[in-house]
Amino acid sequence: MTKLPDKLNIMGHEYGIIFPHAFLEREDAVGLHCYQTSEIYVSGVDCNGNDRAESKVWATLIHEILHAINASVGGVIFTDEEKEEQQVETLANCLYQVFNDNGLLNKGEDPGFEITFVGGIVEWEDEQSSPDI
Ligand SMILES: [Zn+2]
Repeated sequence: MTKLPDKLNIMGHEYGIIFPHAFLEREDAVGLHCYQTSEIYVSGVDCNGNDRAESKVWATLIHEILHAINASVGGVIFTDEEKEEQQVETLANCLYQVFNDNGLLNKGEDPGFEITFVGGIVEWEDEQSSPDI
């Protein structure tokens, strides 16, 4: 079973990640972001009730994060509502590939170091393990 984070800080707002979520009103929906409640919903099953691949679940989370970022900045990133879904979906799949293939997604494995977020700056517990950033 895919594991997603329970919470994410997106543009300074704490979002709850509700996974797996069952979309009862729209069975074709697999993700939803709600700016008003700061929640992201991600389905664990497809429209046929089958478990979704981990890659698709993560791409959906990234997709909804992109919507959340766009909403928090007043829609200035994806400015054409007709194209937003296609642009968000394309970018989400691209980011998923880069993040996944470079080990940047926390899929529940122990990363081998502690990360502390302070004011948007990552502080590494162990200077020896800190990457070049
Ligand atoms: Zn979308």
